[in-house]
Amino acid sequence: MANLKWKTPRSKTRSRRAANWKLNPVTTVDCPQCKQAKRPHFVCQFCGFYDGRQVVQVKDPHAGHDHG
Ligand SMILES: [Zn+2]
Repeated sequence: MANLKWKTPRSKTRSRRAANWKLNPVTTVDCPQCKQAKRPHFVCQFCGFYDGRQVVQVKDPHAGHDHG
């Protein structure tokens, strides 16, 4: 019995379920604190605010270098 050269037609390769499950669009909302786009119901990664209060300490952008 001859082997199939392709199990999936090349035209269908990109539309297979496994090839697309990661490509869901990320929903974002504007952070009320810093106005950056952030995930809804997630702590803002830019200012660390959630529900109007600081819940995580955001790393100082100047930390790590020597400014004296
Ligand atoms: Zn923010």
